[in-house]
Amino acid sequence: MPEYKAPLRDLKFVLEEVLDCDSHYKRLGYNEASLDMIDAIMSEGAKFTEQVLAPINQIGDQQGCRFEDGNVITPDGFKEAYQQYVEGGWPTLSAPVEFGGQGLPSSLSVAFSELTLGANHSFTMYPGLSHGASQTIEAHGDDTQKQMFLPKLVEGTWTGTMCLTEPHCGTDLGMLRTKAELQNDGTYSLTGTKIFISSGDHDLSENIIHIVIARIPGSPEGTKGISLFVVPKFTINEDGSVGERNGVNTGSIEHKMGLNANGTCVLNFDGAKGYLIGEVNRGLNCMFTFMNAARIGVSNESVAAAEASFQGALAYAKDRLQMRSLSGVKNPDGPADPIIVHPDVRRMLLTQKTIAEGGRVLLSYLAQLVDIEVAEKDEAIKKIASTKLALLTPIAKAFLSELAFEATSHGVQVFGGHGFIKEWGMEQLMRDTKICCLYEGTTGIQALDLLGRKVLGTQGKIFEPFSKEVADFCQENMNNPEMSEFLSALMLYSREWSELTATVGKKASTNPDEIGGASVDYLMYSGYVTLAYFWAKSAKVALDKLASGSDDERFYRAKVNTAKFYFDRMLPRAKGHAACIERGVSSMMAIESDDFSF
Ligand SMILES: Cc1cc2nc3c(=O)[nH]c(=O)nc-3n(C[C@H](O)[C@H](O)[C@H](O)COP(=O)(O)OP(=O)(O)OC[C@H]3O[C@@H](n4cnc5c(N)ncnc54)[C@H](O)[C@@H]3O)c2cc1C
Repeated sequence: MPEYKAPLRDLKFVLEEVLDCDSHYKRLGYNEASLDMIDAIMSEGAKFTEQVLAPINQIGDQQGCRFEDGNVITPDGFKEAYQQYVEGGWPTLSAPVEFGGQGLPSSLSVAFSELTLGANHSFTMYPGLSHGASQTIEAHGDDTQKQMFLPKLVEGTWTGTMCLTEPHCGTDLGMLRTKAELQNDGTYSLTGTKIFISSGDHDLSENIIHIVIARIPGSPEGTKGISLFVVPKFTINEDGSVGERNGVNTGSIEHKMGLNANGTCVLNFDGAKGYLIGEVNRGLNCMFTFMNAARIGVSNESVAAAEASFQGALAYAKDRLQMRSLSGVKNPDGPADPIIVHPDVRRMLLTQKTIAEGGRVLLSYLAQLVDIEVAEKDEAIKKIASTKLALLTPIAKAFLSELAFEATSHGVQVFGGHGFIKEWGMEQLMRDTKICCLYEGTTGIQALDLLGRKVLGTQGKIFEPFSKEVADFCQENMNNPEMSEFLSALMLYSREWSELTATVGKKASTNPDEIGGASVDYLMYSGYVTLAYFWAKSAKVALDKLASGSDDERFYRAKVNTAKFYFDRMLPRAKGHAACIERGVSSMMAIESDDFSF
């Protein structure tokens, strides 16, 4: 099992040096989020994740959750770890002060969550969903509901879930059947079945607060007739204490490819008491608060998985002796050289490193945009941040999850046959990470959202603020010769990005299937170019540090070389995606559905 080490040095580089979090927080009025405070939180977080969460990650995978007498029991150590998580005040970091939170910026929570995810993805899903549930109630609930649910959710005594999926409806939520009937007291009675509900039941908290979409009888068909409800596992007494069992029961748990320590449940709602949040039939709009937070959460899961797999592979590659280097013996005292000398092993390690570290910058940048949405007073600045966030969220969610799965696969590969053996933990990382490409909207659906709804739906206007930022960065650094290799490529690919958009738009005007045929390649292309920008920014900071004679030269030198690898060996992959987009959809649609196989 690889030993997880919180990547504190790189987090510091990303937050403080590349994204200047100090000025960012001060400008937004988060004065208490000083650099010292951030350091203290991250080093305490590192201890907790390395010492408490990492040691139960493999046990969690092996034991999985158990389903006994209608209740889900988490693996050994999870209950105690959750208790420590709550006692440490970790759930409260960025929650509002009025509900018992510490009122710190949400980007700080995101940075801390990367550590818990890297140490134990399954565990982090329990508090992770509580955050989304709290944010949804805070944004759309009334005052009574906020008082009823938020203090306990914020302190972690209760946890949350997100209940969208039903057996016949996953992507297509308009088909949902769960019914919500108005009662005389103004509450609703919910009946229906939800499947695949993460953290749907467990033994970690006193109550579980389900955020559920359902249809009120008489509402329109499709997505226009969906309303949103909060449904507690145990009803809540007038004094706020936990009351009797509500009509929501766990039917079973799923036996999954990975994330075995997170209870993924079938939940049966049978006349369960629920409270409407937001307006009738506006449920999906409200649910977007949850879904957007969850998409950033999945991007974080992806970065964390790439990092954890990289750490395991790197340690192994330095230790494992096999064959001699092509360019001469590197370890004359040993029977063979460590495998890290072989170019192909380096290719895999550097691929992982560019995904983890580049992904960390993209993710942290998104988290700062969320801070701006929450705390900025200037509406014009807020609007720019929201537009960038709308463009980059599907890219981060889908591109990073696809690349994280690749990174974890390289992790297995670097170990050779040993990577396929459970005790090393590399195959667990790969199994646990596949879900990131699936939940919160599959890669295909994120790609349609990006290309169809956001890019073509706005005639490309959604690009403007981010394109301007990239162009300004290129302009500012044009005269720096050390940056030219990065900037010339970045400008070339950025130009091609907008040309490709025009190409797809033109094709789609005569055949709408062209959008679906191009969308995933378009998303991947967008991802490679976006990450190129963040790698160029990282290189710039590292080059400046080297020029000013930093005493951490090895770190910055490695950063510049990793950026070079990204531009040499990762960014050109975008060319293949561009070629696929240009070839169009015709070969995909030529075969009749019945003729795929005989
Ligand atoms: C471990 C796990 C945890 C989960 N946690 C939760 C949770 O907490 N809450 C919750 O509500 N749900 C949860 N889900 C459900 C998850 O969000 C859905 O599985 C996901 O949204 C996809 O839905 P589906 O499985 O029904 O696939 P489908 O919608 O049936 O899709 C099947 C395939 O068809 C493709 N497809 C569908 N429509 C289109 C289209 N229009 N164009 C192109 N391609 C299309 C998809 O991309 C996919 O490849 C979880 C699932 C799992 C496995």
